[in-house]
Amino acid sequence: SKTLRLILGDQLNSNHSWFQTFDDSVTYVLMEIRTETDYASHHIQKIVGFFAAMQSFAAALKSNGHQVIYIHLNDENNRQSFDKNVENLIAVHSFTHFEYQSPDEYRVEEHLKNFCQHIAVSTKVIDSEHFYTSRGELGAFFAGKKTFLLESFYRALRKKHHVLMDGDQPLTGQWNYDGENRKKLPKDHKPIAPLVFNNDVTNIVNEVKKTNVKTIGTIEAKNFVWPITREQSLQLLDFFATECLHLFGSYQDAMTPNEWSLYHARVSFSMNIKMISPKEVIERCIEEWKNRPAEIEFNQLEGFVRQIIGWREYMRGIYWLKMPEYETLNFFNNQEKLPDWFWTGKTKMNCLRDAITQSLDYAYAHHIQRLMITGNFALLAGIHPDEVDAWYLGIYIDAIQWVEITNTRGMSQFADGGIVGTKPYVSSASYIDKMSHYCGSCFYKKAVKVGDKACPFNSLYWNFYDRNEDKLGKNPRVGMMYNVWRKMNPEDKVATLQQADYYLKNINEL
Ligand code: FAD
Ligand code: SF4
Repeated sequence: SKTLRLILGDQLNSNHSWFQTFDDSVTYVLMEIRTETDYASHHIQKIVGFFAAMQSFAAALKSNGHQVIYIHLNDENNRQSFDKNVENLIAVHSFTHFEYQSPDEYRVEEHLKNFCQHIAVSTKVIDSEHFYTSRGELGAFFAGKKTFLLESFYRALRKKHHVLMDGDQPLTGQWNYDGENRKKLPKDHKPIAPLVFNNDVTNIVNEVKKTNVKTIGTIEAKNFVWPITREQSLQLLDFFATECLHLFGSYQDAMTPNEWSLYHARVSFSMNIKMISPKEVIERCIEEWKNRPAEIEFNQLEGFVRQIIGWREYMRGIYWLKMPEYETLNFFNNQEKLPDWFWTGKTKMNCLRDAITQSLDYAYAHHIQRLMITGNFALLAGIHPDEVDAWYLGIYIDAIQWVEITNTRGMSQFADGGIVGTKPYVSSASYIDKMSHYCGSCFYKKAVKVGDKACPFNSLYWNFYDRNEDKLGKNPRVGMMYNVWRKMNPEDKVATLQQADYYLKNINEL
């Protein structure tokens, strides 16, 4: 018998059980295909990052003695989709058996499931051996419940996997340190310079340029900053543990101009394509904290562990529980288009200009920029969630639908009506000013609601609550905002709504 095993671009897990034995009858295949480059308008760094990591993974497998077929984007015999390429390989090489690892994307899962029903050879699906939880675990955990509280799922996983536990109790006796975290960066504080790699990816950039693949953003082909191997991913993780972890929690929600990563780990790309595992990431950070207890406070570590064993696993569970309906949800029935400057960064709003420009430059923005700058604006402006999803799915190097859509449509746009979050994440300028250094030098005035230079976030914020009162008025978590709005002087209210109307009609000029 001869077996063909498909490795998807986000399954570069060298510790997978597949690779622990050597078998002459097994051949692996990786492929660069148009169905994957074209399902969204991806950032050029995202496409190149995936291909570069796939190529080095294939090379490492080969040098370890495995048999590997690698199909490049412009290969003559490339049929440009998983099914057609696999079908062709089975015919040409007489494979008698086909295997793949469970995909993380619903789209790919359906495609491969469907394909396997129609081929003549036997098939098998195996786990990708990456996550703490199985696909259905969150659904089972919340069975019969109407709400899906992150906190309870997170605590259950800490217990189940004995992460930072003392028997059945959390180490230190406290589960949640959010209250001690999330500070503004002091004005004179210079954040650490990010560790970047200088990978030369010229060949791949040229191959992509030969095609008509539509991309966004820019790339420095000789100095590609993202890790493309497991070794580089581990180096980046090491850098985070030694240089950033001690301030991670404190500044996880902080923003400042021209600093694109602050104390964030930037390991989402490496993890999402499985060059490293969430368990390794957490264990490395716990080890660092144990080695330097005087320097790394527990709240910094807990804040980080919560993102990975909490949010990341939680989003995966929600995705598999709620797809495919999830991608059609539009709770507020929002219908607008994204303003043009989302693709150029050319806006007078400092906060948005900074977040969008760095996204175009690095295919990266940290969480609070995604949530409280770009996402906040899109929700306030009533943009259709399909538009918002397409933008996030394209622009970020770590964007794979299972973790992109749950964050965008769910957490950020509240289009799921409260599955992921209990209230919409929206704010006026005051929150942005509290967490950043953007407002001081902005064209707009942060404390002004109406008039020439009024910060658009202010009027749009009240317009959002006003137009969605039927949907949100009864939500106890936003009751206070409705009280403030109701008590506002009627003339002020009219002027604020008029200002918002004006901004929405001239959204491309902001
Ligand atoms: P850090 O801040 O250093 O956090 C460490 C790790 O925790 C991350 O690498 C990530 O794996 C995990 N994590 C943190 N927050 C979340 C979260 N909310 N959901 C899932 N995992 C989390 N993350 C993606 O991986 N892909 C996406 O496409 C994506 N799209 C997003 C869209 C929006 C609108 C928002 C608000 C968030 C999105 N996130 C996404 C979550 C989060 O912003 C990124 O994981 C994070 O910014 C990645 O950078 P980092 O590795 O430096 O993260
Ligand atoms: Fe952003 Fe408004 Fe502050 Fe300008 S004033 S940076 S637009 S929040």
